[in-house]
Amino acid sequence: MNKNIALFFLCLLSASLGTAQDQDLKNFTSMQMKGVKQIDIEVDLDGAAERLSKAIQFKTISNQDRNDFDTAAFNAYHEFIVAAYPNVHKTLKRELIGDPRPYSLLYTWEGSDPDLEPALFYAHQDVVPVPADSRDQWKEDPFSGAIKDGYIWGRGSLDDKNQIHAILEAAEMRIKEGWQPKRTLYFVFGQDEEVGGAEGAKKVADVLEARGIERFAYVMDESAPLTPGIFPGIKDNTALIGIAQKGFISLQLSIDGIGGHSSMPPEESNIGILATAITKLEDAQFPYQIHPAVRHQYRYMGPELDVEKQPLYAAVAFGKDEEITPLEEEFIEVMSTNEVTRAMLHTTIATTMFNAGVKDNVLPATATAVVNFRPMPGDSPEVIIEHVKKAIGDDRIEIKDISASTPATNIANPDSEGYKMLEKTIRQIWGNDLIVSPFFVIGGSDSKHFQARDFAPDVFTITAIQLENTEEFKGFHGVNERILKKEYAKSIGFFYQIMGNLQGNL
Ligand SMILES: [Zn+2]
Repeated sequence: MNKNIALFFLCLLSASLGTAQDQDLKNFTSMQMKGVKQIDIEVDLDGAAERLSKAIQFKTISNQDRNDFDTAAFNAYHEFIVAAYPNVHKTLKRELIGDPRPYSLLYTWEGSDPDLEPALFYAHQDVVPVPADSRDQWKEDPFSGAIKDGYIWGRGSLDDKNQIHAILEAAEMRIKEGWQPKRTLYFVFGQDEEVGGAEGAKKVADVLEARGIERFAYVMDESAPLTPGIFPGIKDNTALIGIAQKGFISLQLSIDGIGGHSSMPPEESNIGILATAITKLEDAQFPYQIHPAVRHQYRYMGPELDVEKQPLYAAVAFGKDEEITPLEEEFIEVMSTNEVTRAMLHTTIATTMFNAGVKDNVLPATATAVVNFRPMPGDSPEVIIEHVKKAIGDDRIEIKDISASTPATNIANPDSEGYKMLEKTIRQIWGNDLIVSPFFVIGGSDSKHFQARDFAPDVFTITAIQLENTEEFKGFHGVNERILKKEYAKSIGFFYQIMGNLQGNL
């Protein structure tokens, strides 16, 4: 091509780019809901705090070894719930579901209008263990449920018994007032969220699907709590609403060959062959892409961020999947420098286990590794297995899916009535001095078992509690998990209010 013509084309290209950006920037205005009136909901806080404190004392721990399950703790917790919320148990249908152990609770609160699509609130009963070596860092016993210095202390006070009990407190209040839902409300309290939800949430989703529910108008589950500064670059108080979750699959890679004596080693050992395969796989990363949930996130959050970066965020928010613009490339480049944001860009590959050998002078006959993937939409188990096979190019390695895998979920619509109703409720309880934005969840919670199915496209995940700062966030799975008593009252108020707001059109 003639040099001048090439230059001409370049100018044309940048000119058209410039126009597109100007247009995008003009449309890149704040998406924050304004003027919502804050309301104060009175709750029996001392009673509610006592009940949450008691709930924390049941050691409903999820261990990786599923044979290590404390049946007595779960039974006692269930008995306590029945006794503590008498009106709920007079009014709602209660079922125990789960396989092989039926310890997940499914409550059905029949709506007065059978034509309305139902809504579902999800929370989990199980908690993560407290490692013995972290025990002395706790200021209060992690299973004491101590109420002290304005906090309720212990495992499950943030993750996630606070949500179970806020939902039950709100329902109890509503029933006492003679209130009845128009649309049927389901409460689902899972038993094994911390180990993937294969026994509990997945089975409850199967049951509800088999009962013929076509679509849930609204599903809510835990995720990030309201926290100032939770999103890098925003100091303000922020409520992040999860709208999509990545999938989950673990593959076992193994080689079954001939062992032998270490004095006469073959050219390649089984450990060497498997290690090479893992290295090749880690070198064959999945390509980066901008997930639609990330586009939504920047559409809502972008206008609240740095002014200089607005063109960049606008390009992401309004970008098309078929073409990647230079600005989007820049965005991907920045995102890929940090492991948290990089995980939002592609199906991740994490080698989590590697086992071989028992003695220093024996060549092991087998070697196995486990690789955990968190897939983006479209990367089904078949696609991933094909990718692995091609990357390692070694037929001696056997590949097996060893997980209760889940695909990447549907993407909830932030322009929907459900999202707006949730944002309104958040502002009714916590006011307008905060940023509300959708976001893409790279971890995942039990609601993925619902959101991956056709009947629950609009699942919104947020833990409805206000934290003082990001330091308190470390209580999730960490030490000194605790909840501010006065904020727990607001959490109950939130669920009370949202039950009322769900009476509207969704
Ligand atoms: Zn949780």
